[in-house]
Amino acid sequence: MANRNEIVSFLDDYLAIGQVSDKSINGLQVEGATDVSRVALATDAALATYEKAHAAGAQMMIVHHGFIWGGLKTITGRHYQHIKTLINYNLNLYAAHLPLDMHPEVGNNALLAKISKIKRIKPFGEYMGTSIGFGGTLPEPLTLKELEAIYEKALDTKANSIAFGPKKIEKVAFISGGGASTLAEAITLGYDCLITGEGSHDKYHEAREGNIHLMYLGHYKTETAGVKALGDKLKETFPNLEMIFIDEPTGY
Ligand SMILES: [Zn+2]
Repeated sequence: MANRNEIVSFLDDYLAIGQVSDKSINGLQVEGATDVSRVALATDAALATYEKAHAAGAQMMIVHHGFIWGGLKTITGRHYQHIKTLINYNLNLYAAHLPLDMHPEVGNNALLAKISKIKRIKPFGEYMGTSIGFGGTLPEPLTLKELEAIYEKALDTKANSIAFGPKKIEKVAFISGGGASTLAEAITLGYDCLITGEGSHDKYHEAREGNIHLMYLGHYKTETAGVKALGDKLKETFPNLEMIFIDEPTGY
């Protein structure tokens, strides 16, 4: 058992939660029980994940995508349903969006780069004034197929690539989730491949004209590792807490 406020202040501090501008309201979004013994980790705040967290006996949820983006105006419709469910279940909802994408240890992008043992890592991917991703060099050049196979295996996903980059890939940049908006930056910086979750129609020709590979691995699949790693970190600090991961894939 641990006190909710102590958990929140640890997370706020470890993730530097207030230090990045974000559309998500990061930190504790909805207050629930004061005493927490079980924490549910999930990618998305959704009625489906609240139900599973409650059924598993959790008093707190930590998610990557919270449900308050830019502030609530009315507590009606879907917002009402979410708040009502969380309050009924006495469930704390803690969200970490960009702070969890960009974190150097438990961040989605640092973990993506680690999978292919990227070297000479530097910040990449400017979004709302901050670099939230990473880029670097593969230990040895790989073909697109070889690189896809590494990520398909590690993330249990199917890669969908727009293949206009070089035969041998050396420099790779990473932005989890919907990160294809950083394609122009990847081209300017001379990356051979941008790995992200999902993108928009217009990126096809942009990749083609920029001579770069654009690899989509799925928004959800690129954003589960961070919240799990954050759970491991929390457990190190509060050994009495139990962690559970709620898998609710969206197919995107
Ligand atoms: Zn996302």
